[in-house]
Amino acid sequence: MNQSLNAAWPVVLSVAGFDPSAGAGIAADLKTFAAHNCYGIAAISALTVQNSQGVAAIHPVEPQILRETIQSLLADGRVKALKIGMLHNAATAQVVREVLDYHPALPAVLDPVVRSCSGVELLDASGLDFLRRELIPRVSLLTPNLAEAAALTELPVDNLESMKAAARKLIEMGARAVVVTGGHLEKAIDVFFDGTEVESFVGERIRPDNTHGTGCTFSSAVAANLALGRQLRDAVVLAKAFVAEAIRNAFPIGPGRIPLNHLYRMMESPRVTDHSAAIPEPVH
Ligand code: PLP
Repeated sequence: MNQSLNAAWPVVLSVAGFDPSAGAGIAADLKTFAAHNCYGIAAISALTVQNSQGVAAIHPVEPQILRETIQSLLADGRVKALKIGMLHNAATAQVVREVLDYHPALPAVLDPVVRSCSGVELLDASGLDFLRRELIPRVSLLTPNLAEAAALTELPVDNLESMKAAARKLIEMGARAVVVTGGHLEKAIDVFFDGTEVESFVGERIRPDNTHGTGCTFSSAVAANLALGRQLRDAVVLAKAFVAEAIRNAFPIGPGRIPLNHLYRMMESPRVTDHSAAIPEPVH
């Protein structure tokens, strides 16, 4: 068997939806894992039809296909962390619950995706209920944004105090640790609570602010940092810094919302020399 020299790259599994515009979902997750020197693998919960202007359709994947995909990937035995994103419905969430029950020691970050920024429902009502009851207590970290924290807790969540209240309530509901992300507030404040102390991490609000895929990218960056062996709090702080830079380096791919540049670090490497002049002309 070929034991590659790169065997040190931890493997991270994403279970999420596929956004073909690659700003959010599986594609964003894989780019984020790669940017952290992790090898990303993925199981798709649903295909979405979307571009920079919004989500036009959602086609859920058969739960049994998702189950077989995850089981097959985990059977390779190298996954060091799990990121869970858009699940769309309770049947898909049920598959994820089975996985979490079977692998209770696997660090798992749940981004409780409920709705796209363009307003399309990405998780139905029974899915949300299932997530609340069954998945929240089974993951290492929950990363709701303001709207998702409000949907899960049924509290208004729109400022620092209400973010803290929501974080406390989510812990009461069984979460082990929570980050309520407030990227849309005046200052980009995240509230972290693991049941001991509520902390807030303040970042500057970065333009452009109509970015797409921040929640997916943040949760994936946390999962990658956990796979690399970092402590939860450190993983959260590093993920926030990564997302800030990915927003700072974002560029439009269409007339709508702007996807983060997950691979901005590649732009920081020395530029590859243009070797085209050295390519010999074809001989006829
Ligand atoms: N599409 C997929 C597959 C997603 O997982 C998500 C997000 O979490 C979105 C769309 C929505 O991203 P945004 O809220 O940035 O529009």
